[in-house]
Amino acid sequence: MSSATVPGHVVVVGAGLAGLRTVETLRAEGYAGRISLVGAEPHPPYDRPPLSKEILAGKWPDERATLRDTAGLAELDVEVHLGVAATGVDEETVELSDGTRLGYDALVVATGVHARRLPFQPEHPKIHMLRTFDDCVSLRSSLAAAHSLLLIGAGFIGAEVAATARAAGVEVTIVEALPLPFERVLGEQMGELCARLQRDNGATVRAGVRPEGFIDAGDRVGVRLVDGTELSADCAVVGIGTVPDNGWLAGLGLAPDQPLSCDSRGLVDGTPGVYAVGDVAAWRQLARGDVLRLEHWTSATEQARVVARRIAGAEIGREADVVPYFWSDQYGLKLQLVGRPELAERVEVLHDPGTLKGTVGGYFAEGRLVAALGFHAPRPVMRYRRLVEAGADEAEVRETALRLAS
Ligand SMILES: Cc1cc2nc3c(=O)[nH]c(=O)nc-3n(C[C@H](O)[C@H](O)[C@H](O)COP(=O)(O)OP(=O)(O)OC[C@H]3O[C@@H](n4cnc5c(N)ncnc54)[C@H](O)[C@@H]3O)c2cc1C
Repeated sequence: MSSATVPGHVVVVGAGLAGLRTVETLRAEGYAGRISLVGAEPHPPYDRPPLSKEILAGKWPDERATLRDTAGLAELDVEVHLGVAATGVDEETVELSDGTRLGYDALVVATGVHARRLPFQPEHPKIHMLRTFDDCVSLRSSLAAAHSLLLIGAGFIGAEVAATARAAGVEVTIVEALPLPFERVLGEQMGELCARLQRDNGATVRAGVRPEGFIDAGDRVGVRLVDGTELSADCAVVGIGTVPDNGWLAGLGLAPDQPLSCDSRGLVDGTPGVYAVGDVAAWRQLARGDVLRLEHWTSATEQARVVARRIAGAEIGREADVVPYFWSDQYGLKLQLVGRPELAERVEVLHDPGTLKGTVGGYFAEGRLVAALGFHAPRPVMRYRRLVEAGADEAEVRETALRLAS
């Protein structure tokens, strides 16, 4: 490490997965300078995937979501500011909500995203969003007393909430504005399979229609759809996407609610010394040169590693997001997505065992494999991940599919 180029004080804002991994990697790479970690939530860093799965279901004790407790943070020799938000910033200083001003030599933005609200969404104890641990606890307590759940928006997190609720015997209705759930991310064919997974497990899917308002339904939550239908349930979850948490960066001339556009190793465009990692960040992709924001656990950890090594002056090693990876657990199946399905011109079922379990779809653009989605098919998916990275053509993919099936 060359100390001439290594900053003396690194301020990491956002004490979630990406922020914590940045701090851990800085220390692991031998960075000996001062580190401050600022987190708006009162909790020590915790993991979000179990919030729609094991923690929501009550299968795990809450502490199991913790990534590093207070004692673990102390081992990193990091100055921790929890329950305190960054509210402003200039080229030298971050301002915190408790009045503290932290001068920085390098700033890492790891503030993630918040759940997008419907324009007409009221504050209501039984209308939930799911992003934080506190959101999860509140939804869990509503679900414990509920016979029915209305899900507005059919994203992956919503689909997992549906699965968790169905496992607890709760009736689930999913309302999705697109003609098919997941169509935007996965395309029609695979979106249909995801909808089937829900229906096969007893959830009602109403696609192609959106809500236009909440209505009075007594103790229940009521919604009127644009086609005039009125639905009600004991509680509701709104899962219609996310908004990057970067309003506090206006002092650097960065637009609020927009992804932070970065180079391919996380330096925010036009702001020397400022990096962004995780859900808030949109990194330039080495392979295609476009800018991509991912809300994937693996991406947050890979980006944190790259930025921390860059700041510490260490070897970068493998670049981040070479082949993006996302998983989702629904109804006992692990769905795994590798690559970039949004690039695809064509989707082909590569493995069709006659059940959803084991089905794999391949996404092709310009005759090359750009993504694959597996329904509980870990071995093929990992094989296709390598083929996506290698830019394999259709013939090679089909040959591999035949070999894997034999
Ligand atoms: C319910 C749920 C389930 C998920 N399941 C999966 C899954 O199965 N597979 C998968 O690949 N991914 C999953 N994800 C996505 C994955 O968890 C995220 O990609 C990952 O958490 C991103 O990490 P991050 O550090 O960028 O953001 P976060 O984990 O959101 O952390 C950001 C932190 O910054 C804090 N913050 C925000 N603004 C400020 C501010 N101004 N000052 C200080 N702190 C601030 C926030 O409070 C938050 O604690 C899931 C996400 C959720 C919500």
